This record gives sequence, C-alpha cells and structure tokens, in this order.
Amino acid sequence: MSDAKAPLPQTAAIGSSSTPSEAAAGAILTIDLGAIRENYRRLKARLNGVRCAGVLKADGYGLGAAQVASALAKEGCDIFFVALLGEGIALRKAIGSGSDIFVLNGLPPGSEPEAVAAGLCPVINSAAQLKAWRETARGMGKSLPAAIQVDSGMARLGMAPAEVEAVAGEAGAFDGIDIRFVMSHLARADEPRQGANEQQRLEFDRLRKMLPAAPASLANSSGIFLGPAWHYDLVRPGAALYGVNPTPHQPNPMRPVIRLQAKVAQTREVGAGAGIGYGHSHNADGPLSLATISLGYGDGWHRRAASAAWFEGTRLPFIGRVSMDSIILDISALPAGRLSEGDLVELIGPSQSVDDAAGHAGTIGYEILTSLGSRFHRRYIGI
Ligand SMILES: *Cc1c(COP(=O)(O)O)cnc(C)c1O
Repeated sequence: MSDAKAPLPQTAAIGSSSTPSEAAAGAILTIDLGAIRENYRRLKARLNGVRCAGVLKADGYGLGAAQVASALAKEGCDIFFVALLGEGIALRKAIGSGSDIFVLNGLPPGSEPEAVAAGLCPVINSAAQLKAWRETARGMGKSLPAAIQVDSGMARLGMAPAEVEAVAGEAGAFDGIDIRFVMSHLARADEPRQGANEQQRLEFDRLRKMLPAAPASLANSSGIFLGPAWHYDLVRPGAALYGVNPTPHQPNPMRPVIRLQAKVAQTREVGAGAGIGYGHSHNADGPLSLATISLGYGDGWHRRAASAAWFEGTRLPFIGRVSMDSIILDISALPAGRLSEGDLVELIGPSQSVDDAAGHAGTIGYEILTSLGSRFHRRYIGI
C-alpha cells in the first residue's frame, strides 16, 4: 500500500473515541446506558407484549446513537428509527446487520440506492416516494422493505388523506414493497385530555384500512401513556428512554439518564459595586464569592436560561451573562474556600433534572439533550 493511500486513523470513527479526555475537557457528561435499558424495560412493562422500537434520531437525542442502540439491543430491541438517511448509514456502519433501521423523514429523490446499500427501510411519506421505492425494487428484481406513513392530523410528514385514497385506488401501487408498518405520529400526545389524540387515532384507523393490511404504529413516548388503544403493534419511544418525562403534568415515571458536571476554572472574591460579566448585567451589592465554570453557550447551555449549578445540595445561582465558554456562579452560600479550581459542580443530575433545566431555559427536555455540546468528556456507564 502506498503512503498516499494509508488508512485514516481509527480515532476518526464514530463514538466515544473522539471525546476529549477528562483532564482536557471543561465539563463531563455521564451517560448511564443501564438507565436507558431500565427505561426500555419500564416501557415494555406497560405494553402487554406489543413491540417497542428505539428512536435514535439526532444521534440518539445527543447521547450517542451507536452506544444507545447497542444498549437497547441487549434488551432485545431490534427496530430503530432515525430521521435522516445519513444518520441511518452511520448507524448501520456502527451496529452492523441484525436490526431494522427506519428513516423517518423519507429518502431524498435519487438516494434510494444508498439506502438499499446500507440495508435501510425508508418511511414513505408521499406517493412520489412510494413510486421511487417501487421502481427501485423493480430495478433490483426483489422486494424492498418500507414503512408507510399517513398524516392523521399533524400536517408534518406522511401521505395526506387524499393521497392515501389515490394510491389505494391505484393498481400495483405497492408492488415489490414489503410493508413492515403503517404508521402515523401524534401532535399532542403529551396532553392526555386533548380530544386531538382520539381524533388522530380514529383517522389513523380510517386511513390504514384503505392500505394493504400491515402492522400498525402510532405512539411515541407520551403516546404510550395514553393507553393500550394507542399501542397497536409497535410503539416508537425516544425521549422517555433518555429520561425525559413523558407525562409532563405528573411525576416522571422514567429513570434519569444523564449527569452534566462542569469544572471550576477560577474562584474570586469581589467587593460591593463590582461589575460582573459581559455588559456588567449584574453589579455586586456587597462582597461576593464567585466561581467561573468552564461551560457556556458554546456547549449548548442556553444564554437566556435563568439557571443555577449545584454543589453538594447547595444551589449556586448564575450571576451575570452566560459566556461562550464560561459562566460565573455566586458561591457565597458555601463556606469560604470550599470550592476550588478543578472541582466539579452539577448542571444536570440529582439536584436538577433535564426537565428542570428545560424549564429554566423556556424549552423542553428534548432540546436540552440535543443541544449538549461536543466539547464534553463523555463517559458511558452501566454498559
Ligand atoms: C421523534 C419521533 C418519535 C419519538 O418521539 P418521542 O416523543 O421522543 O418519544 C416517534 N415517532 C416519530 C415519527 C418521531 O418523529
């Protein structure tokens, strides 16, 4: 082999190998794969034998699709959903064969051969996508697997009712397509009292009956908690597996999965009148003890979040503006000298859940997870 064709170094591979070392990073993200497995089992326990997939889009909600997939595989999960073809290709490379990977957003026109080569199943969202997949199957002289998505009332992805009627009336529309599931997605599953859920379920039943008989799938995490009528043959949880509360108005039935800790970069004492951080958005009204931590909006922590870190049960409020790489904490509540350079404070963990952090930032747990940055040292436990 000539030097010019030397293989790329192994560190370019997917997964935790690209994480900075614990010593080199400003913050440490601990991901408990055992807790993800426990959450999968907790969902399964509600399902009375119905199959349970794992949704791994956006790199497993920011926690590492490959690592999450292999943890779920140990619980017998062999159906995964990603959003994009590129995510599916990367996941297939990471986990090999033996499980089905569905691509929720469908295939961009012309990309069908890439999906076939990676052994992926598209979620077919339109008549045009159906035709392209049928022609791909015909060209290859074999049948190809797919899920068919219908829009039961969210207006996002899937065949609209008129389109379902049109393909249902078309001879040979599904020739060469092995329909694994007919599916749809709920717009308001986290609002159990919403009549929209029942309406979508009825519309889903009406639409799927026009299509060739196939197993059905409707529920995401919150949809599972709407009850057995929403379970059908397969459920598709994402957020609940990662510890986000699928029942926002009730206690979280899931186990927390992540812990985020940032390192203290510096501590200082300031006197009354000191201007703190960019824009001097805060001025000390008396002597204060401060700690600057190595985590900021460059790590996905929302600049506008009115937030705090925690240390051994003590709340340490943010003071001044969140910077790109740092945040200043008011640590006056701690005994003098208790915190020093290199110590870790908690941003997400036992004192502050993902959902709490989301509340402070005016967003949802999903966005907290998918915003988690790439500079953390990532540590997987419970493997
Ligand atoms: C994201 C997604 C899911 C998973 O949703 P969660 O609320 O995270 O459980 C399921 N189905 C579809 C179509 C999705 O887009």
